[in-house]
Amino acid sequence: MALYVHKYGGTSVGSTERIRHVADNIVKARGRGEDVVVVVSAMSGETNRLVALAQEIQARPDPRELDVLLATGEQITIALLCMALHEKGIPACSYTGGQVKILTDRAHNKARILNIDTDRILSDLARGRVVVVAGFQGITEDGDITTLGRGGSDTTAVALAAALKADECLIYTDVDGVYTTDPRVEPRARRLDRITFEEMLEMASLGSKVLQIRSVEFAGKYNVPLRVLSSFGEGPGTLISYEEEKVEKPLISGIAFNRDEAKLTVLGVPDRPGIAYKILGPIADANIEVDMIVQNIAEDGTTDFTFTVHRNDFGKALDILRRTCTELDAREVAGDDKIVKVSLVGVGMRSHAGIASKMFEALAKEGINIQMISTSEIKISVVLNEKYLELAVRSLHEAFNLEQSAEAA
Ligand code: ASP
Ligand code: MG
Repeated sequence: MALYVHKYGGTSVGSTERIRHVADNIVKARGRGEDVVVVVSAMSGETNRLVALAQEIQARPDPRELDVLLATGEQITIALLCMALHEKGIPACSYTGGQVKILTDRAHNKARILNIDTDRILSDLARGRVVVVAGFQGITEDGDITTLGRGGSDTTAVALAAALKADECLIYTDVDGVYTTDPRVEPRARRLDRITFEEMLEMASLGSKVLQIRSVEFAGKYNVPLRVLSSFGEGPGTLISYEEEKVEKPLISGIAFNRDEAKLTVLGVPDRPGIAYKILGPIADANIEVDMIVQNIAEDGTTDFTFTVHRNDFGKALDILRRTCTELDAREVAGDDKIVKVSLVGVGMRSHAGIASKMFEALAKEGINIQMISTSEIKISVVLNEKYLELAVRSLHEAFNLEQSAEAA
């Protein structure tokens, strides 16, 4: 029998009415003869409410206690969903992460799943039950409750699908799939029928927040086909899987962007071994994540060194860099926190030349200045002034015909 893991996010279980609607969806799946294991998030806004409650008492609560609190959100929805299923005559049983035994490490608030005990789930399925599991939580070897980081229910669902060798992991959410780009920026953005794990990772890490990044990594590692689809309407959604040889690959799958970027430059640094380390060492020690890095060719023994960080870290990074500048006897430090990163993503570019020049041509036509460029096998990213974001995304969407599907193009 086909086994599907369904995951319903916060909005999909945001009210008792919606929970009943989810139960209807499960009834339909059962009607098709499918076995169903369900993972639910907390009702929308609930996790934020719990975090706020904690902070009314303590600015930085003990992570262990915070997990005990946060895990309650999902416990509410598993019980309500089971009641809704019972009401429709469907046998169902709810489990917290600890009851299943979703074993995690001890990293409270951002725990990683180590093992899942499938015995109880499998015996419930064998007895014809729907199994409803609380997302986002697990338990340590010592029996302490842990949570997996915000958005962690996606990871619970994928991990369960992997452990149960499910046919697919269906992520039901409030959008009907993964789009070529954010439809709020380009209304002609199109839902993709399919996308590879690699592409989805790039899209997700660049700010398209449909799925928790860790869940996509997990799905790729264990080859669990993932499908993002709407819990409100019909439709096939977007399948995230490995590349299939037979399927014609579009050159570009999507355009991702990130508004939260800032750029820092040290000008006139002496060009000698160890400089990159001296500049970035203190930045790393301050726990600041660095994204793009560019070092120019040295002229008269000095060079310019530029890198980007998250906009929230801009001030901190600038302070650190000013100190480094003095130590290294560099000329000056410059910074700009009004930049964005725009990226073309597509596995098809592996086997095609000329994508970058086509991208630069499209931007040039609009008079958009490119400040930095970086490339990987399946991605080309440019850093631009933030005022060009919308224009850049729309002109690239147009230049690469993304509003048309690969078959139509
Ligand atoms: N309820 C948790 C959160 O809001 C986990 C999840 O929804 O995936 O982050
Ligand atoms: Mg979510």
